Amino acid sequence: MYINGTWVETGNTFDVTNPATGEVIGQVPDASAAHIDDAIGAAHDAGFSWRHTTAYERSGLLYRAWQLMLEQKRELAELMTREQGKPLKASLNEVQYGADFLLWFAEEAKRVYGQTIPSARKDQRFWVQKQPVGVVGAITPWNYPISMITRKVGPALAAGCTVVLKPAETTPLCAMAMFRIFEQAGFPKGVVNLVTKLDPAPVGNALCDDPRVRKITFTGSTPVGKMLNERAARHMKRVSMELGGHAPALVFADADPVHAAKGLSLVKFLNTGQACISPNRILVQREVMEPFLGELGKRIGGMRAGNGMDEGVRIGPLINEAAIVKVDRQVRDAVDKGARLLAGGERLLTPELAGGHFYAPTLLSDVTPEMLIYREETFGPVAAVIPFDTEAEALAMANDTAYGLAAYIYTENLSQAMRVFEGLDFGIIGINDINPTSAAAPFGGMKESGLGREGAREGIEEYLETKLGGIAVA
Ligand code: ADP
Repeated sequence: MYINGTWVETGNTFDVTNPATGEVIGQVPDASAAHIDDAIGAAHDAGFSWRHTTAYERSGLLYRAWQLMLEQKRELAELMTREQGKPLKASLNEVQYGADFLLWFAEEAKRVYGQTIPSARKDQRFWVQKQPVGVVGAITPWNYPISMITRKVGPALAAGCTVVLKPAETTPLCAMAMFRIFEQAGFPKGVVNLVTKLDPAPVGNALCDDPRVRKITFTGSTPVGKMLNERAARHMKRVSMELGGHAPALVFADADPVHAAKGLSLVKFLNTGQACISPNRILVQREVMEPFLGELGKRIGGMRAGNGMDEGVRIGPLINEAAIVKVDRQVRDAVDKGARLLAGGERLLTPELAGGHFYAPTLLSDVTPEMLIYREETFGPVAAVIPFDTEAEALAMANDTAYGLAAYIYTENLSQAMRVFEGLDFGIIGINDINPTSAAAPFGGMKESGLGREGAREGIEEYLETKLGGIAVA
């Protein structure tokens, strides 16, 4: 753990395993209550001077961390593939995406503007200044183990906040590698602190309950996000919540079905479906169903599952055994209720995949609202296809979910694209585009997918307070 500028070890550790092989690849400290308290104390104490550094100093340090990430891109990516399982190419992309946030917020640090406001009184002036919220408690997930750290730590540090971060217990090694970079970049002691623990609840509870922590930023599942938000509310803490999703993808008859199938095969199976913006329901207008399914089936048939370090592997392992059980349960339930299984549908147990958590890339058609997969987030390599007839029907189905993170539209009809874009209750919408994410663009969800936005100009606002000054001028 990295607390107050020092690497801290303990007698208590827990194992980190490679999900492709089951092999133990490291041991990390299991924090005690005292460690958590020390980290919060260090962040609190460091905040007094950190908030008074200039934006240019903070920007320079973030810029240096960005450079170090790019210099160490290959090592970081290899570690990520071993710890999280995604194919090496995807890991390299993620390190780049993660680094983008540091560069973006190195720049945004210098653009934290206030304003002056005209008063109705001749003898009065108003001005508004932005200030850091204070100590930030950050909890990050395992599916994007590096970029979810920089997406939170980057804007927090840029704004002048200090941080205590708890990474997912399955991917603490990536977090340690990132904190080595923060250390090498030269952030003052106590400004960034890392606490690792096998049981996340005590860390979450301490971050929510300790009055020195002023903000909770979380990426993970909706149930945990709700629990943290409720607990943070007891102290009226600020929160940013990036939670689950159940993205619909709407393929209209006006689209090229082959192009749509190609795009959706890429985004659906990205990170083996373990992404909150992964399309969970692919809604296809009946006229183009046949060519769409033909192309998607062909592409899924050509996907190779395996160890992400091996050339040509597209489908990495799922993160653990529970993920396999959940995916398989959704597939069985769909088939039992009448879905057609067009590819996959089983755990992969060949000798070369032994020890890993692999599930075959799967294609289900004729999915209906009665099936679990229609409502539950899958987080696995299963494409669920649902037919529709009219635009109104597709929109109603797409919005028929408690989630509101990402959605996708395929159509060449501009009016239809605008109508559907405006009608979808989702925060991120790709139109004939499968990658509407960038450090420069606001990422976040509506409804039970969360609160707040990350990246973009909005990203730094989440870590700033607005302070009003009113002065009487004699
Ligand atoms: P997932 O189902 O994708 O693993 P989680 O919400 O369980 O999503 O995990 C996301 C992050 O939240 C991880 O860092 C995990 O350790 C953390 N987490 C899980 N449960 C709690 C909890 N009760 N309190 C605080 N953090 C938690």
